[in-house]
Amino acid sequence: MRRKIIAGNWKMNKLPNEAMEFINSLQERIKDIQCEVVLCVPYTDLFYSLLTAQGTSINIGAQNMHWEESGSYTGEISANMLKCINVNYVIIGHSERRKYFAETDELINKKLITAISHEITPILCIGENLKERALGIQEEIVLKQITIALQGLSKEQVKNVIIAYEPIWAIGTGKVATKEDVNNMLKGIRKQISIMYDENVAQNITLLYGGSVNKDNAKELLNIPDMDGALVGGASLDASEFGKLLNQYSIS
Ligand code: PEP
Repeated sequence: MRRKIIAGNWKMNKLPNEAMEFINSLQERIKDIQCEVVLCVPYTDLFYSLLTAQGTSINIGAQNMHWEESGSYTGEISANMLKCINVNYVIIGHSERRKYFAETDELINKKLITAISHEITPILCIGENLKERALGIQEEIVLKQITIALQGLSKEQVKNVIIAYEPIWAIGTGKVATKEDVNNMLKGIRKQISIMYDENVAQNITLLYGGSVNKDNAKELLNIPDMDGALVGGASLDASEFGKLLNQYSIS
């Protein structure tokens, strides 16, 4: 089943008290919300955010996790650690993890398998950089990322993966991909999923777009037929702005 979902990625922002204040404020603004809302917060905010969001329509997710169950991985967090405090979503393979922490598609594949096996919904990020787009090889890059990242996942497992197409040149830049660019890429992704799995899986997988989505452009983007929601960075940091963005899904 395709899910309507808008996820916020706070990156390395907000202290626990700010997180709690934000969640209380956001909850007041999204009473009639018609999509799944997820806030992917820093590790140190997880526990406070989960407590504050209890009984609300806001879900809390992490921004990363390790692929091993436990062991000598200083500074890392396991899927089990997330799951035991009720974290049910995790971003995997964000372009900033790929860029600054050298995450490869192979490593991202391991993380996806671990997240799925712990029943944590992974939000898999993929997307081309500016140079790749200029060369016209964006689809090739994205489809390769998907093919490696999903390797070894069964049909049943892949249905639980959320894929976020995030062209790197659109992240945090204010440059939004055109509706046509997003539509073409999402169609290409569904086609690739149908080749790897089948048409039913392809039509039922949840696809998001991310890259400078805000309250002013969300409505138009959310009308793209193959787009089931958005992954939002900068515009998820302000409760008023994010609330307005989320309410775009409830306006027919
Ligand atoms: C992101 O970091 O995933 C993102 C989409 O950021 P922004 O919305 O700020 O472009």
